[in-house]
Amino acid sequence: KIREFFETETSISNTEQPAEEDIKGVVEFKNVSFGYEGEEVLKNVSLKASPGQTIAIIGPTGSGKSTLVNLICRFYDCSEGEVLIDNINVRDMELRNLRAKISVAMQDVFLFSDTIEGNIAYGVPDAPYESVKWAAGIADAHKFISNLPEGYDTIIGERGVGLSGGQRQRIALARAILKDPSILILDDTTSSVDMETEFEIHKTLRSFYNNKTTFIIAHRIASVKNADKIIVINGGTIIEQGTHEELLKQKGYYYNVYLTQFGD
Ligand code: ADP
Repeated sequence: KIREFFETETSISNTEQPAEEDIKGVVEFKNVSFGYEGEEVLKNVSLKASPGQTIAIIGPTGSGKSTLVNLICRFYDCSEGEVLIDNINVRDMELRNLRAKISVAMQDVFLFSDTIEGNIAYGVPDAPYESVKWAAGIADAHKFISNLPEGYDTIIGERGVGLSGGQRQRIALARAILKDPSILILDDTTSSVDMETEFEIHKTLRSFYNNKTTFIIAHRIASVKNADKIIVINGGTIIEQGTHEELLKQKGYYYNVYLTQFGD
């Protein structure tokens, strides 16, 4: 699936992409259910995300968080209900048009056998190696990465061998940001760094991404508390949703995770 995603990405040509003003990034789930080989994993999920909003998804391992975001880029089709982007059912969109709008960065980063710069440049749509557009993309990547903590920019240009999990994840973030998508999906992309670094990374992302629809799957409350909406999923169902303050007041799952992480 990952290979398929990148192959679809690189086959995009400028003329086939939707016009910039048409891309808004409204994401809507209407009564969505889905199962792998019959076993139901998502049950009757409905949600709406508007452009510029950051939606955090939290919940126990195996509750369906990754499955939910996989349905947005149509790695799988839902069995019931509808997933809509800008009011269009994703099933009716051409896969490459759909994926031209979306960047996905995952926990386990897939690196090509190339320099770090080269790996990041895969995110630039339709930019031949060392073209002007490619170089501009690399310059943007430098700008983005140099805003991240830990002076990561010093290793740009070296090959990917021996990088830490956290460094690999930052490459994935830079690659995702270069694509300039209208929808950004971060699936556990900051799991390999400490909490303070994670917070800084999200702050940097926010400053680069304030007009995007962003989905963040994360485990630590520190990195999701500033989201516009936090969705708590358990057993494939949304059990709570709201802002950090609203969810703390509800004293449910989110509140209990908060207590576990920060005490009372
Ligand atoms: P989370 O992201 O919350 O940890 P997932 O969406 O990855 O949860 O998984 C939800 C459930 O679906 C789990 O029980 C998991 O084992 C199962 N699952 C995930 N991916 C697949 C797959 N490709 N094939 C079959 N079952 C899967």
